[in-house]
Amino acid sequence: MTEVLFMLHDIHIPHRPLWPAVWRGLTHCCPRCGSGRLFNGYCTVQPRCSVCGEELHHHRAREMSVYLTIFIVGHLLVPLILFAEAIWQLEVATHAAVWLPAGAILTLALLPSVKGAILGLQWALYMHGFATAATSAGDHLMARTERR
Ligand SMILES: [Zn+2]
Repeated sequence: MTEVLFMLHDIHIPHRPLWPAVWRGLTHCCPRCGSGRLFNGYCTVQPRCSVCGEELHHHRAREMSVYLTIFIVGHLLVPLILFAEAIWQLEVATHAAVWLPAGAILTLALLPSVKGAILGLQWALYMHGFATAATSAGDHLMARTERR
């Protein structure tokens, strides 16, 4: 029997496992099927999955993914910068020459994965337009269960 996330009137919304969806997004795959590509290009989300047809344009991961990526990169680099300064007492220009490109490269490398993970989370929790897409597409009918 499929676990039901919530029920409104006679519409059963199926439970979507959170962590598999986040992992699929993290690895740039569709949060529903795990096979379709999430991005078209560097970081542009496909409007719908090419394999299962899930609508993906409902996400609101733009600003949050940038914020989280900067947060992660900052927490990775600041201890390294402080450690390097404590050990080698580098010039400011040397710090800038090392850490600015490192920060830029790390940010660009992490941004699509973080965006995909947030999209997976939003999809699993029916956030934003993913809830209306599920109810209007008849997704609830596939997982409808008899609960008595
Ligand atoms: Zn898919």
